[in-house]
Amino acid sequence: MPEVDAAAWASLERFDAALDELHPAAPGRSDAAAWSTWLLGLRRELAARGHHAPAGPAGPLWHCLAQFLAGARDLDLRDCTGDGHGAIVLTHAPAGTARAWRQQLRAGELIGIAATERHGGSRIREISAQARLSTGGRWLLTGEKCWVSRLTEAAAFVTFVRDPDGRISAVLVNADDPHIERDVIEPFGLGGWGWGVLRLHEVPIDPATALLGTPGSGLDIFRQHFTRFRPLVTATALGTAAGVHHLVTDALAARRDVGDLPRIRDNALITLGRAHAEITAALLAALTTTRLAAAGHPAAGLYARLGKAVGVDAAVRAVTELAPLIGAAGYQRSHPVAKARADLTGLLYADGIHDSLYRSGGTSLLTAPATSRTAPLAAAV
Ligand SMILES: Cc1cc2nc3c(=O)[nH]c(=O)nc-3n(C[C@H](O)[C@H](O)[C@H](O)COP(=O)(O)OP(=O)(O)OC[C@H]3O[C@@H](n4cnc5c(N)ncnc54)[C@H](O)[C@@H]3O)c2cc1C
Repeated sequence: MPEVDAAAWASLERFDAALDELHPAAPGRSDAAAWSTWLLGLRRELAARGHHAPAGPAGPLWHCLAQFLAGARDLDLRDCTGDGHGAIVLTHAPAGTARAWRQQLRAGELIGIAATERHGGSRIREISAQARLSTGGRWLLTGEKCWVSRLTEAAAFVTFVRDPDGRISAVLVNADDPHIERDVIEPFGLGGWGWGVLRLHEVPIDPATALLGTPGSGLDIFRQHFTRFRPLVTATALGTAAGVHHLVTDALAARRDVGDLPRIRDNALITLGRAHAEITAALLAALTTTRLAAAGHPAAGLYARLGKAVGVDAAVRAVTELAPLIGAAGYQRSHPVAKARADLTGLLYADGIHDSLYRSGGTSLLTAPATSRTAPLAAAV
């Protein structure tokens, strides 16, 4: 990664050291409110200490690696740094709005995304949340979004609606608007941030400040954002798998060293080796996709969709195969291996459900000219 110079590596090492210092002070996971407050506090503390991606070409790769380091501690640390979904606002909001949010995101505020509706998140083209034209050119938003993450922590939501002309547009909705209603749902895993339903009851917005991009550009914004965002999600999931790999390797080595295990069996050695190789390969793919996305390569979206599905699948498989090697102790609800298994299953749906991603990748490959299927790899090295 020639873009990541010595200064960027040093800054990544400082970020890693800060996580080493701050993570052990995390509260127990049984109190969801305390855990969510701590996660948001961690994000603000890291921001206050100046841990963020460097400017220039090193930035996106730094961020991808930072997500890996965060995920290695706990998948719930996935928003501890970076602009997250706020990147949509920084890229597409009117200048004044983007400027104000740049400062807030830098200070550790969080922006969520509200796209999914009851009919199915894999069919965003069919959304029905509606913006109606009101007095003075304002829009009134009505509709319901479901399975929204960062529901109680986000200061605003990038929300996909049908604009008054029926086109899909992205708008920014402030979380403290009194016309918003939020219902929290308890998830099976990925419980760090609030998750659930966001209802919009004639929420007034001014498109002059809250419309992202141009009217009708919602789908383009969605695609463009997830091309950059999916490799970050993938790197975080792989970090979590790497964290489990470390735990299992250390546990086996400790049992061998005290004589508890006379020798490490082949099945364990094979699993350790294969999981390491698969995690590394998928992380390298995520970094390559990050680089392609930063360069605006036309195939970056394809690599991001397929890379997210195959990378998260690799992380899930690695943890599933590694977990039994630690024995029943790892099956306790409070054990980090048990938590990692439950958390990773959430990423099989969030940020793109896998059958849809693979299917969409297959469709793109059938329609793409043969040269563009492999050219991105040459461009990335
Ligand atoms: C932990 C978590 C966090 C999330 N965070 C957010 C968030 O912050 N913001 C947000 O907007 N959403 C969020 N989501 C929602 C997520 O994006 C959706 O779950 C995902 O897009 C899939 O949508 P769905 O669950 O409605 O399933 P569906 O779209 O209903 O898909 C379910 C299954 O049906 C299949 N299917 C679809 N159409 C057909 C068809 N015609 N024939 C046969 N099968 C079909 C799909 O391929 C899939 O297998 C989150 C979800 C989870 C689990």
